[in-house]
Amino acid sequence: MTCAEVRELLSAWLDRELDLRTSLEIERHLETCPGCSESRDRLVALQAALKDPALLEPLPPDLTPRVRRALRREVPRAAVSAPWSLGVAAALACAFLGGRYLAGVGGAGPVPEVVSAHVRSLLPDHLMDVASSDRHTVKPFFHGRLDYAPPVPDLASDGFPLAGGRVDVVGGRRVAALVYMRRQHVVNVFVVPKAGGALPPPRMVDGYAVRGFEAGGFVFWAVSDLDPAELGHFADLVRTAVGS
Ligand SMILES: [Zn+2]
Repeated sequence: MTCAEVRELLSAWLDRELDLRTSLEIERHLETCPGCSESRDRLVALQAALKDPALLEPLPPDLTPRVRRALRREVPRAAVSAPWSLGVAAALACAFLGGRYLAGVGGAGPVPEVVSAHVRSLLPDHLMDVASSDRHTVKPFFHGRLDYAPPVPDLASDGFPLAGGRVDVVGGRRVAALVYMRRQHVVNVFVVPKAGGALPPPRMVDGYAVRGFEAGGFVFWAVSDLDPAELGHFADLVRTAVGS
């Protein structure tokens, strides 16, 4: 991958919109290219700046009328060249401010990210880098690919056989993804070292059940189209197997 290609894809990569193979190619390139790493750092800094809590305060109730009034003063100039630009500018201003406002309210943590990683994994050839029901094959696969060793519990006798694992990208970092099966349903489990902060309650997103829980110094994010109660049972099994 050339520098030009990498830089063109950087913001899509940061937004986790790329498939795993392309993401890994970009990461490999970034490891060895100072120029592109610098571009990435600038983008990351920009995104962090946009998440500044100062930007997340509730919108003053009179903001929209003030924006409209300010724009109306511009009408004589704007209306001549592009009559639609007033509406477009107002819509953009409201979309931007409204979007920032909403971003501060949800508190969903990485929930949307693990759901999109789950959906991405269901694309052809994306589910597993290592396909095995043997934890002694799956666990060593992560060695050297991640800077931590995720626990890989064996839950076959509980009706959740292991199918394999892969390295995925969630929140811009490489994480362990374990794949379990329940009948014909895929259960993706993203495992990351515990970093503090409260986990959001179990929820449904886009028809998928999502459950974050802690065990053995790790945070597990389980995502599946299983019934939420069944995913809760799965979480209990993982907690018991891994220990706390
Ligand atoms: Zn480069």
